[in-house]
Amino acid sequence: MSPRILIVGGVAGGASAAARARRLSEDAEIIMFERGESISFANCGLPYYIGGVIADRARLLVQTPEAFHRRYRVDVRTRTTVVRIDRKTKSVVARDVLTGDERTEPYDVLILSPGAEPVRPPIPGADAPGVFTLRNLDDTDRIKAVADRLESGRAVVVGGGYIGLEMAEALRQRGLDVTLVELAKQVFIAADPEMVAPLHQQLEYHGVDLRLGTSVTEIRAEDETHLHVVTSDGRGVDARLVILAVGVRPETGLARAAGLEIGPTGGIAVDEHLRTSDPAIFAVGDAVEVRQLIGGSPALIPLAGPANRQGRIAADNALGRDSVYKRTQGTAVCKVFDLTIGMTGLSEKSLSASGRRYEKIHVHPSSHAGYYPGAMPLSLKLLFDPGNGVVLGAQAVGAAGVDKRIDVLAVAIRAGLTVHDLAEQELAYAPPYGSAKDPINYAGFVAANVLDGDMPICHAADVVEPRGDQLLLDVRDPAELAVGTIPGAVNIPLDELRDRIDELPRDKEILAFCQVGLRGYLAARILTLSGFRCRNLSGGYKTYQAVVGHLPPEEAPPHEVVDDAGQVETTRILADAEDGLAAVAKEIDARGLQCPGPIMRLAEEICRVDVGRAVAVVATDPGFRADVGAWCASTGHELRLLAAHDGACRAVVVRRDVRPAAQPAAAGALAKQKTIVVFSGDFDKAMAAFIIANGAAAMGSRVTMFFTFWGLNILRRSEPVAVRKNLVERMFGRMMPRGAERLALSKMNLGGAGLAMIKGIMRRKNVASL
Ligand code: FAD
Repeated sequence: MSPRILIVGGVAGGASAAARARRLSEDAEIIMFERGESISFANCGLPYYIGGVIADRARLLVQTPEAFHRRYRVDVRTRTTVVRIDRKTKSVVARDVLTGDERTEPYDVLILSPGAEPVRPPIPGADAPGVFTLRNLDDTDRIKAVADRLESGRAVVVGGGYIGLEMAEALRQRGLDVTLVELAKQVFIAADPEMVAPLHQQLEYHGVDLRLGTSVTEIRAEDETHLHVVTSDGRGVDARLVILAVGVRPETGLARAAGLEIGPTGGIAVDEHLRTSDPAIFAVGDAVEVRQLIGGSPALIPLAGPANRQGRIAADNALGRDSVYKRTQGTAVCKVFDLTIGMTGLSEKSLSASGRRYEKIHVHPSSHAGYYPGAMPLSLKLLFDPGNGVVLGAQAVGAAGVDKRIDVLAVAIRAGLTVHDLAEQELAYAPPYGSAKDPINYAGFVAANVLDGDMPICHAADVVEPRGDQLLLDVRDPAELAVGTIPGAVNIPLDELRDRIDELPRDKEILAFCQVGLRGYLAARILTLSGFRCRNLSGGYKTYQAVVGHLPPEEAPPHEVVDDAGQVETTRILADAEDGLAAVAKEIDARGLQCPGPIMRLAEEICRVDVGRAVAVVATDPGFRADVGAWCASTGHELRLLAAHDGACRAVVVRRDVRPAAQPAAAGALAKQKTIVVFSGDFDKAMAAFIIANGAAAMGSRVTMFFTFWGLNILRRSEPVAVRKNLVERMFGRMMPRGAERLALSKMNLGGAGLAMIKGIMRRKNVASL
């Protein structure tokens, strides 16, 4: 006998179930009830329609009731609410929303997909006119109607989940000022804090007034477009529009009233076949409690992908198949202005709450080959089992390539792959799309090194307050330090490490770091192979900054400037920006270069332009925005303009006549006074001292060089001077080199041939000698 299948809810899970049921049976009678006017609409597209990215409302309607009926012969009853389930008689009562008429409809199988309702926090005024939640097309139309009437003014978005973030962006795109209030200390709460730090920066960069750790305590409405939002930080906000996006709650009223079992998280309890506690009733989508893929704990994970797959599986089982829903891993992605954040599997937060052992690594590769235009930095965090290397979770944030990597990692987690497997994946590569070592491979290499003991690592928490028996070693180049370093760190650039290894204490553990972790790794290898105890800071200074919250927000509200080429730029810092643009003497295209690359290029070029002229740098690394400000503050050059520029950031820096004494205080822990003690008379070591001294002076430091012991020979005159000396002094005088030109190399001098070779190379490369 052909079954009668009733479906409650006609959007993601419900419509999927209905279509699949029809594909499996031409005989089944299928009725789909939907409370709203539309079925199968694109709820995920609603914010983009409000923001204007999707211009045509009709594009949101993936299916109409009529078309759905024509194609699938499903009896679609819109504006009809199922108000009761009678499990004894296997029937439901459906009420026409417009007329109130009720009809009883019997079922053989019932599939519930009622979704989740937006939470309205229990605060005075949460129901006031002008305060909206966003779930369906009716909500969308109401919000859009108000936004269309407002030409300016402020909207307050309460809640920093993906709907809140998407709405903040949508309302900014419409030209409204936006305040985003979030109770937690971070937005996108499912991800770990350091991974969302760039989102905070991004929101502020795009002019969103971000209030983290703040709650809304009351909303006072004068009328629909004049509201006052009272916040816990005491800084109330006048608003024309308020969006509440503080989360969703599974719609379980119908199921509860019918006596179906509800799980500990508050969703409808289902088994792996998505059957409820009543064998004739299935439930799917946002309303159900799922099991997490890893660990199997119960969870509410309201996402469209799981809802659609579950609808299909419930239909299979309703028609006698044996389909199993293999849990939910929480793969999610969200666009926040120019950035994308994505995650899959477990976060560090959830792993540590569950007490499960894990290790993590952070890497910062590029979205594709750095030399091909448009490469963007990507921050990727990988969580894995420290015993067998199985991947447990991943998060990524960046301007490009995030979704692709998260999808690959989602498959890896689903397949139970290990970090070694990631290292071995053969992924599509050509310069516009990826790198020969894709970020996935790269994360696999790094994690495998950790797992195999080749790279002991430490994390930001370990370096905030190192123990007395530990030493922090910054192996970046001196110029990079201008944008900051970890307090207490000693700087020995990687390329000098082998020569200066004796400066490091052997009785201490060395915690080495660089900008993103690669040079730190190389330093750790050198030191470990030389008998030191050493760990590398995973993700380097970049991750440290994100963890300790040192990514400075940008404060000035954006406004637009048109440059000489007619390009519109949204500018952030401005002292007479037009002047700065006119003064540009050198343009640097640093797109695709990771920080501090763009800063190094800027440092190189600024000394080549005249005082008062400017260097413009276009960079894609989001860290550049903060770094260039810190670099200018540190060196005394003037940041004239910082602008969003075609998905990148453009800075115009005017060269100032930098006199060390007049410099502002250092941005980082480095003092602006440097003393260099030159105690070697070897040419190479003396050169290193002068290079560092010049670098520091160029960065605005007052440098003192103190020559002692053998180092005094560098200052010695080349021609003999008549001085009265005793025998020993005369002997020493003869043995010592007579001035800078007579110094020898510390190693491979080869009777002067090595030195001659080096001097030849220096001449060719225009490097001044001592
Ligand atoms: P829904 O799709 O919400 O459908 C439930 C339907 O059931 C509703 O239309 C409701 O009217 C109807 N209903 C409820 N009770 C009854 C009843 N008693 N009688 C009749 N009808 C009833 N997820 C993502 O993965 N990515 C995204 O980018 C994303 N963006 C989103 C943006 C917004 C603004 C929203 C609101 C959601 C977004 N989601 C996103 C979540 C995704 O839309 C949901 O996870 C998915 O729609 C859930 O499917 P569902 O079938 O459980 O519920």
